[in-house]
Amino acid sequence: MIFEAAPYLLGTTAAVYALLLAIYFVTGWLYYSNNPARADKIQPGRALSAPKVRRDIMQSVRSLFSIALMFSIGHVLYSRFHIGFTAWPTSVGSVAVSFLLSMVAYDTWFYWMHRLLHSKLLYRRIHRWHHLSLPSVAWSNNSDTLLDNLFLQSYWLAAHLIVPIAPTVLLVHKLYDHLSGIIGHSGVEHGGGVCWPPSPMNSVTHHDQHHRFFNCNYAPHFTIWDRLMGTLHKSHDAEVKENLRRRRLPAVQESRTDA
Ligand SMILES: [Zn+2]
Ligand SMILES: [Zn+2]
Repeated sequence: MIFEAAPYLLGTTAAVYALLLAIYFVTGWLYYSNNPARADKIQPGRALSAPKVRRDIMQSVRSLFSIALMFSIGHVLYSRFHIGFTAWPTSVGSVAVSFLLSMVAYDTWFYWMHRLLHSKLLYRRIHRWHHLSLPSVAWSNNSDTLLDNLFLQSYWLAAHLIVPIAPTVLLVHKLYDHLSGIIGHSGVEHGGGVCWPPSPMNSVTHHDQHHRFFNCNYAPHFTIWDRLMGTLHKSHDAEVKENLRRRRLPAVQESRTDA
C-alpha cells in the first residue's frame, strides 16, 4: 500500500513544487525592487547586496522543494490513507469556513513556532539564515534552512489533522500564503486599505519590522496574536498608516515609474 502510493506522492510533489516555483518567480519578478532611491521604500536608502540576492534565490529553490514535499506527504496521508478529519461536503459556506479556520490554525502554528525559533537555543542554528537579508526583497521569502521549514512549514503536513478541509482549499490557502509572503518581503507597502490599523490583516510593514527590530511581529496572516501577546512593535500602527499614506502621494506614484 505504501509503495503503491509512492508514484502518487512523487507526482503530487512535482506538481506542487512547480506551482510554488512558478508563483515565486512570477511574483518575485513583479514585486522585486532593490532600488534604494524609491520614495515608497519602507527602509529608504537601503538595498540588499547582490550576493545576498543570489543567496536568497538559490536557497528558496531548495527550500520550496521541502515545502512541496511536506504538503504532498500530508495530502497523500489524507487522500490515500484517510488520516485526518474528513472535509465537510462542498458548499460555498464550507469552503469559506474551512479556509478561514486553516488561516487561523496556520497563523497560530507559525506564531508560536516562530517565537520558539527566536529562542537562544534555536536561533543561531536554525533561523538566523532568514534574518541575514536586511532589508528583505521579494526573493527573500523562502530563503530558509531546511530545519526552519520543519518548524514553520510543517503545518502543511499536519493540516488535515487540525482542520476539516478539502485538499483543493488547503492548496489555495498555501498558494495565498506563498503569494502574500513574497509580497510581504518586498520592502514596499502593498497592503492597501485592508491593512489600515487596527485591521487584523498583516501589512508588508508588519514583517519588514520583524526583520528590522527582530523580537516582534511574528505572525504571518494576522496581527491578532502579536496584539494579544504584546509582541506587536510599539510603532507598528503608526508606521503602517504612514507607509500607506506615502504610497498614495503623487510624488511616490511618479517615482515608481523609474524604480
Ligand atoms: Zn524571525
Ligand atoms: Zn522574513
